Amino acid sequence: MLKEEIKKINGLLIRHFGIPYRAKKLPNPTDALIATILSQNTNDKNSYQAYRNLKKKYKSWEELSNVSRKEIESVIRVAGLGKQKSASIKNFLSTLKKKTGKLNFQYIKKMSDEEILNELTSVKGIGVKTASCVLLFSLDRNICPVDTHVHRTLNRIGLLKTKTPDKTFKQIKNHLPDGIAHQFHTNLIMLGRAICKPAKPSCSVCPLLKVCEFKSKNLESTNRIGKDVFMLLDSI
Ligand code: SF4
Repeated sequence: MLKEEIKKINGLLIRHFGIPYRAKKLPNPTDALIATILSQNTNDKNSYQAYRNLKKKYKSWEELSNVSRKEIESVIRVAGLGKQKSASIKNFLSTLKKKTGKLNFQYIKKMSDEEILNELTSVKGIGVKTASCVLLFSLDRNICPVDTHVHRTLNRIGLLKTKTPDKTFKQIKNHLPDGIAHQFHTNLIMLGRAICKPAKPSCSVCPLLKVCEFKSKNLESTNRIGKDVFMLLDSI
C-alpha cells in the first residue's frame, strides 16, 4: 500500500531530520503564489531577494499590477528567467483582477484542492508545482508539491516509477497519510539537496538506505553533507 510506504519513509526522514520548522502565521495565498513563481529554477537566496525587491518597491500587489511587465522583469532580475516570471506574475494579477474586480484571492480558501489546482493551472505560466505550493504553504492542505528533488528521491527509493514531477504528484496526491504533507515535502527536499544529490548520492549516510531500491547506490564513505536547508516559502 502506497500510503503505508509513505508513512514509513516519512518516519525514517523525521528520525533523521526532525520535524521541519513551520511559521505559525501562514503566508496569504497571493504572497505564496508570487514567491513560488520567483523560486522556479533558482536558489532560495536569489528568489527571496527578488521577492524582497518587489515588496520594497511596491506598496501593494495592486500597485505591482499596474506596472509594465518589463519593469517587473528588471526588479526581479536576481531570480533569473525574468521575462518568463514577470509574465506569469502579470498574468496571474490580471486574471485575478478580471475575476474579482480587485486583487482579492481569499475566495480560494473555500474551494477544494482539486478546484484550486484547476483554477490556478489555467493561468498561463502557473504549473502544478506552483499551484500545489499555494495549497500547502498558504492554505495548509495535505498536499505535497513535487519538485525535481522530491521526484528524483521518490523514484530512486522505488516508491513509484514516473517520468515527470507532475506524474509523481498525481500518483501520491491521494495517498498521503493525514497531516504529513509539510514534513514529507520539506524533508524530501532536504534529503535531495544534502544526501540524495543528482550526480553522486551519499548513500552511506542516508536514513533510507535500508529501504531504498536504487540500483546505482554510492556507498563510498563521505564526510561532507550539504547544509542547504533554508526554505523560502516558510519564511516569506
Ligand atoms: S540510499 Fe542513496 S539513492 Fe537511495 S535515497 Fe538514499 S541517497 Fe538516495
